Amino acid sequence: MSRHVAVLGAGIAGLVAAYRIKKDRPDTRVSVFEKQSRPGGWICSEVLDGSLLEMGPRSIRTKGAGGHTLALAEELGLGSALRFAGLRARRRYILHGGKVCPLPSSLSQMFLNPLTRGLPMTLLKESFREVGRAEDESIYEFFMRRFGPYVTHTFVDPLVKGIFAGDMEELSIKACFTALFEWEREYGSIVKGLFLAPKQKNEAKGEIFSFEGGLQTLTDTLANALGDSLNLDCQVVSLKFLESGVEIETKDGRIATAETIISALPPEVIGALMAPHHPEIASLLQGIPCTSVAVVNVGYEGLCEVKDGFGYLIPEKEEQDVLGVIFASNLFGSKEGTCCFTAMLGGQKRAHLAHASKEELQKRVQEALKCHLGVDKEPAFIKVSYAKGAIPQLLVGHGAKMTKLEGLLEHHFPRVKLTGNYFQGVGINDAVERSLIVSKQINSISASV
Ligand SMILES: Cc1cc2nc3c(=O)[nH]c(=O)nc-3n(C[C@H](O)[C@H](O)[C@H](O)COP(=O)(O)OP(=O)(O)OC[C@H]3O[C@@H](n4cnc5c(N)ncnc54)[C@H](O)[C@@H]3O)c2cc1C
Repeated sequence: MSRHVAVLGAGIAGLVAAYRIKKDRPDTRVSVFEKQSRPGGWICSEVLDGSLLEMGPRSIRTKGAGGHTLALAEELGLGSALRFAGLRARRRYILHGGKVCPLPSSLSQMFLNPLTRGLPMTLLKESFREVGRAEDESIYEFFMRRFGPYVTHTFVDPLVKGIFAGDMEELSIKACFTALFEWEREYGSIVKGLFLAPKQKNEAKGEIFSFEGGLQTLTDTLANALGDSLNLDCQVVSLKFLESGVEIETKDGRIATAETIISALPPEVIGALMAPHHPEIASLLQGIPCTSVAVVNVGYEGLCEVKDGFGYLIPEKEEQDVLGVIFASNLFGSKEGTCCFTAMLGGQKRAHLAHASKEELQKRVQEALKCHLGVDKEPAFIKVSYAKGAIPQLLVGHGAKMTKLEGLLEHHFPRVKLTGNYFQGVGINDAVERSLIVSKQINSISASV
């Protein structure tokens, strides 16, 4: 009889793990259980008034683990559907003193730009700072130690909000910016690391990519490849551990038994499922807080003065409602004559806004666009979506907790593997990479049986 692997959750992490096992080990039966009536999790693209909108993530980085995601896309036959953001999306801005200011894109610009004029001296001094000794520390402590308050509050804080919607005083430098942590240890300085660390060869045609039809093209293609292995509207409500396998019970009363399960569920969900079996494993998982954001897509007809670039991020000291705004039309194009922005609100520091009413969010975003960009006309459309508990917060000590969690699972529940965007990073590439690691482990077990 063929081995049976059950994958819980059909976000990108679950889809990739299931696809890899099914493709590489055709002798293994794979079943995916997904609560919702659609696959993809937070990846959700929609066409409104002829404009392609993203309700969740909108782009994938080509660098680092992005190589795995690109290779997967090629393997799925999506090579010709890949869309790379052009030069127009390269420039980044931050809000400074109420104004949207460009970040310098070269060393010479750094000297000329009022925002960064003092930076060369700060960077020079950084090279001589003492190396930290802590096992881990907050992003705030790390940057304050190495670069001081101006860099920390002006550049790092908005970046942390843009990626994690988080609080830099709580998040782990080691888990969130692993390379920087390692550069300090290895080269004694971030600036030195920037020059000395081996450069990744990046053959891709741009820094970020998506697909024709949006990021959902990737998850839809994975879901199609899974065929009837994918069970939608199938919420997992309990797990039972038997000698010969794991019994999975779904909300509609179905029971399936698998030799191995891969959880690609949010941490609090798999934590709750593990609670009756091992309280410590459950509490490690449930101890990973996940923050909520609201995403507001706004479209304007006719020409409006969109700057070149990706968008702008907003430091806490600016005391704004919005975390950042993406110039969505600049990334992968938009409907002729329509210009779209995407604003994000909420996160750890303004949690109430992640749950505010649609009217309230629309009002605040329109006010922000008027004040920051001078966009003062009625939008052709506004679409508000909510991402509740979507972004895991990798707190100080996260890496050590994940090592402990893996050890406990290996010892007590070797049939359970974990993937998802809380394990080694919060981005799509991190979830994909983790799923490839887990599916490889499972395939090697299958192969040796
Ligand atoms: C607004 C926003 C913008 C983002 N922007 C970017 C970006 O531009 N680039 C980037 O790389 N990353 C971005 N991210 C992060 C990215 O979206 C995530 O890393 C990725 O989608 C996580 O995938 P996942 O499969 O781990 O989790 P999820 O997408 O959360 O999938 C988990 C799945 O489990 C299902 N599930 C839950 N409970 C059960 C149950 N009991 N039984 C069965 N199924 C269940 C859920 O329905 C869901 O489908 C963004 C995230 C958000 C919210």
